[in-house]
Amino acid sequence: MSEKIACPKCGSEATAVSKRNPIRNAVQSTIVCRNCGFTSVREHPPDVTLSEWLAKK
Ligand SMILES: [Zn+2]
Repeated sequence: MSEKIACPKCGSEATAVSKRNPIRNAVQSTIVCRNCGFTSVREHPPDVTLSEWLAKK
């Protein structure tokens, strides 16, 4: 699944593609921003969305 999030670097709209990792019981999200070229892979617990997870930091 994919979701739109605010780019952690430039704040414009970035796309995050999430994939469940059943072995680690986590969700791995690949963030790609077309505006500034930022890419990052984040892992977060399955009970929060990526944007919630990023907002916690
Ligand atoms: Zn960006």
